[in-house]
Amino acid sequence: MQHLLVTGGSGFIGSNFIRHMLARHPDLDIVNLDVLTYAGNQANLQDIQDDPRYTFVKGDICDASLVSAVMREHAIDTVVHFAAESHVDRSIADGSAFVRTNVLGTHTLLHAAHMHGVERFVHISTDEVYGSTVDGSFRETDNLNPSSPYSSSKAGSDLLARSYFITHGLPVIVTRCTNNYGPYQFPEKLIPLFVTNLLQGKKVPVYGTGKNIRDWLYVLDHCRAIDFVLEHGEPGEVYNIGGGEEKTNLEITHRILDLLGKDESYIEHVPDRKGHDLRYSLDYTKLRALGWEPEYDFETALKATVRWYVENEWWWRPLLH
Ligand code: NAD
Repeated sequence: MQHLLVTGGSGFIGSNFIRHMLARHPDLDIVNLDVLTYAGNQANLQDIQDDPRYTFVKGDICDASLVSAVMREHAIDTVVHFAAESHVDRSIADGSAFVRTNVLGTHTLLHAAHMHGVERFVHISTDEVYGSTVDGSFRETDNLNPSSPYSSSKAGSDLLARSYFITHGLPVIVTRCTNNYGPYQFPEKLIPLFVTNLLQGKKVPVYGTGKNIRDWLYVLDHCRAIDFVLEHGEPGEVYNIGGGEEKTNLEITHRILDLLGKDESYIEHVPDRKGHDLRYSLDYTKLRALGWEPEYDFETALKATVRWYVENEWWWRPLLH
């Protein structure tokens, strides 16, 4: 029996990951440590909350005595660390919670994992730590050059995680993934915001020209990649995880409008985000060479995602202010 601690498991990717792991690995129990910020939602896991292999602990990753007690009491051997403040716009308005959770919280977990002899620590980082690039795609060996308080705090945690491998020999693996989409994503992020706005008959706010480019990966492919890295990744290594699906924000907007039968009059161009990175792009040859690649194609998975929000208004309606 493997004892896995997932942090931030009540958020978007963490909840999809817990569901994925319980379905794929019968011989596994999971503790989800989540403080339930505005982005954490117990409804994300209501279908598995009675599974005897699943335990929820409400708590803060910055709370060193709680983190230590959880690792000890549940004999944790593996950590997958998602918990973070994750929305760039909020970090522009006020970055302090980002520094606290993303930097201090990650350090608290790393220290406790080292003290408790954890055997695998996967730190979930992001493509945003590399910053923006006009040409080419970032490799794992490229320098970090983040732009926003969000991505800078993630770069800080990413480097701290690696430092625990170099300094203390903690078996840390860092993954850096591109933009995710899928079910249970808080409706402040582009795809669920646009879909839920249109379902309410509202317009969709496109920043600036809409020419910013992101690479998109279906959340279940990200979950498969983390599962794969747990099994095949090497401690001390960094793995980029990409979808090979670069799109401008305007292209995504048009696809969503088409899928919901709306026209361009629903687009509202709004002033650009401060410091808005033009393009994120990852080279994920390293993970491909180990044997992982995305399974879901963008068109099919986007359609399934839009359908999920159409069919699950009970989930997103209470999250609107
Ligand atoms: P999310 O905002 O949906 O979820 C974050 C979760 O962390 C929430 O459940 C929240 O309650 C919890 N949390 C926040 N602060 C906490 C604290 N102090 N203690 C305990 N729990 C806390 O985020 P997400 O989109 O699921 O992203 C998960 C991780 O993946 C983040 O680390 C993010 O940087 C990274 N990531 C996200 C994307 C993406 O496209 N969403 C892409 C690459 C990497």
